[in-house]
Amino acid sequence: MPPDLQQMMEAHELLRKFYHHLLVNTKDGQHALEYLLNRGFTMEAIEKFQIGYSLKSWDFVFKFLTKRKFPADVMERAGLIIKREKDGNYFDRFRDRIMFPIFDRSGNTIAFSGRSLGDDEPKYLNSPETAIFNKSKTLYNFHLARPQIKKLQRAVLFEGFADVIAADRAGVGNGVGTMGTALTEEHVASLRRNVQSITICYDSDNAGIEAAYRAANLLTEAGCQIRVALMPDGYDPDDYIKEYGEEKFRHEVIDSSITFMAFKLLYLRRGKRLQNEGDRLLYIEEVLKEISRLDKAVERDHYLRQLANEFSLSLEALKEQQKQVYYTEK
Ligand code: ATP
Ligand code: MN
Ligand code: MN
Ligand code: MN
Repeated sequence: MPPDLQQMMEAHELLRKFYHHLLVNTKDGQHALEYLLNRGFTMEAIEKFQIGYSLKSWDFVFKFLTKRKFPADVMERAGLIIKREKDGNYFDRFRDRIMFPIFDRSGNTIAFSGRSLGDDEPKYLNSPETAIFNKSKTLYNFHLARPQIKKLQRAVLFEGFADVIAADRAGVGNGVGTMGTALTEEHVASLRRNVQSITICYDSDNAGIEAAYRAANLLTEAGCQIRVALMPDGYDPDDYIKEYGEEKFRHEVIDSSITFMAFKLLYLRRGKRLQNEGDRLLYIEEVLKEISRLDKAVERDHYLRQLANEFSLSLEALKEQQKQVYYTEK
């Protein structure tokens, strides 16, 4: 490994330990620890995920690493400090934030995400892309989840740090997080190399549902079997667990996940008023298109019957319509 990269990794290791120490053992970190405990994080989770706290200081990290002989330009390229244009002075990127270390597959700390304690924007501040951190390749918690993923032959995909951590506490240890960014082709490839069955458990808000639909399509194209886990409107997994408990999360969210096709039907209904004839016809046509795309004749038959039942239509009429949809598609 080039010496610069070695130093970047070492600086991250040191800081991970130090941030964690500040959070759990010092008065400076006390308010941050209280914030986390109030949110339902346990001490066990704080240990396991090596959560920390960055001081309110402008240059604590800069001094801390300088004292340990880390060159400023390397720390800057590692994303830990920022050079101020006007006077060339360095200051710390992360100040007064809850620190989530981001690990590579071997468990090396390669980046951080810092959450503000109050309403400071941005809510999450991430390390930039660096020589050791490639955002589009990294999935949060992959290093800890991988053995579980292999064992269960299933991975669960979450949006946020808090979601992965809360799910782990609830006994769902095969979860990984996209850290808010859209799922990339590289994420898909590295998941697919390890597992075929994936449950998508994104936030049940508009953005989360759109992102889940997109992720499900990408993963399906890569040959994955997808299920989608849904929560009541507006909840994310962390909120849900806090409100309804771990057992309910396992049973009513994860174990009650639905197939991608069932999710598509819900997705296509969104924003439509099915008692309105125009919307209803559009919905039926869209569903017919999706049914035509199914590989298995038995499945096609199942969903056609379901559609016929729901709208009191004859199977013959639907099949006739489906042919038209099919030909106009081509
Ligand atoms: P919390 O529960 O701490 O409020 P969350 O995970 O529910 O956070 P969301 O708004 O649902 O937050 O966003 C999901 C994920 O997107 C976050 O965990 C984080 O990884 C990422 N994210 C959110 N806001 C930002 C931001 N301003 N900049 C960068 N990443 C962000
Ligand atoms: Mn969200
Ligand atoms: Mn969320
Ligand atoms: Mn949340």
